[in-house]
Amino acid sequence: MNDVILSVRDLKVHFSTEDGVVKAVDGLSYDLTKGRTLGIVGESGSGKSVSNLAILGLHNPEKTAVSGEITFEGKQLVGARESELQRLRGNQISMIFQDPLTSLSPYYTVGEQIAETYRRHTGAGKSQARKRAIEMLTKVGIPQPDRRVDDYPHQFSGGMRQRAMIAIALCCDPALLIADEPTTALDVTVQAQILDLLRDLQSEFNTAIILITHDMGVVAQMADDVLVMYAGRCVERGTVRDVLKAPEHPYSWGLLSSIPSLSGDVEVPLVPVRGTPPSLIDPPSGCPFHPRCDFRSRVPGDLCVTKRPDLEPARGHGSACHLSTSDKRLIFTEEIQQRLG
Ligand code: SF4
Repeated sequence: MNDVILSVRDLKVHFSTEDGVVKAVDGLSYDLTKGRTLGIVGESGSGKSVSNLAILGLHNPEKTAVSGEITFEGKQLVGARESELQRLRGNQISMIFQDPLTSLSPYYTVGEQIAETYRRHTGAGKSQARKRAIEMLTKVGIPQPDRRVDDYPHQFSGGMRQRAMIAIALCCDPALLIADEPTTALDVTVQAQILDLLRDLQSEFNTAIILITHDMGVVAQMADDVLVMYAGRCVERGTVRDVLKAPEHPYSWGLLSSIPSLSGDVEVPLVPVRGTPPSLIDPPSGCPFHPRCDFRSRVPGDLCVTKRPDLEPARGHGSACHLSTSDKRLIFTEEIQQRLG
């Protein structure tokens, strides 16, 4: 497809540790289209952040083996020179993190930090970069931007700091924005404002967004497509509509049951996914979700324990689970849907 901006194929990110090799990402493939938002969801340790740090080339090459393909606007990023990756970072690919306080320098004003990013990538002069900083602070909704541009991060509230991070991330008009839990540290009202802001800016800049989150509610509000990760792999993917209306994978059912009802019904009890995420050094045999899965008895024989399921079908809405398509539908409509309210 022409408007695919990022294509990831069989991405593996393995870390060497004293206890063994951690297979943090173990064969991830997806495409991202211009102007769309892909939500990547999963628990801590599912590989969602690690896979995105690989796009930016931010892993320590001495301790990390990255293989597979990451093609961004036709350029191969796996194995690319550091100078090439540096040129892309902050310019064509930007990232915002959960905690803006650790990303912003306390020693420079917010305006200096936006201007510095802009100058580094565009070669603009000082006054032009300051103008750009004020323009970006205006776009992200900071009041009195021509005065607040000279404030230090500690003079901003949490929500304003996240807005400032978004201003830095978007000042060079990147084609791809990676947002890693951008609203987790914020209260609910500010969270909604930041998500609205990201959506508005996305339509203005036509940026593709990868939104990393553990929160299906955020995905429902923001994303066009969703990819559910478990133990370093994609276990379900599709459009948000498909995955939220008719999820197929028992882990996706678990994630949906553990958030407040999307329909707003406060009577619906929350059911956490039982058990703990698997070891990535010595993952379970067969389907890595099998020790936590309540539905493996519906699969004939011991397939769930002996054979790793592939993501089927190769395109569109698909899941990596040995349950038959008719069983997935039946279980969801007859058992899970009531639970979700
Ligand atoms: Fe559960 Fe088996 Fe499907 Fe894995 S393959 S999610 S264990 S039913």
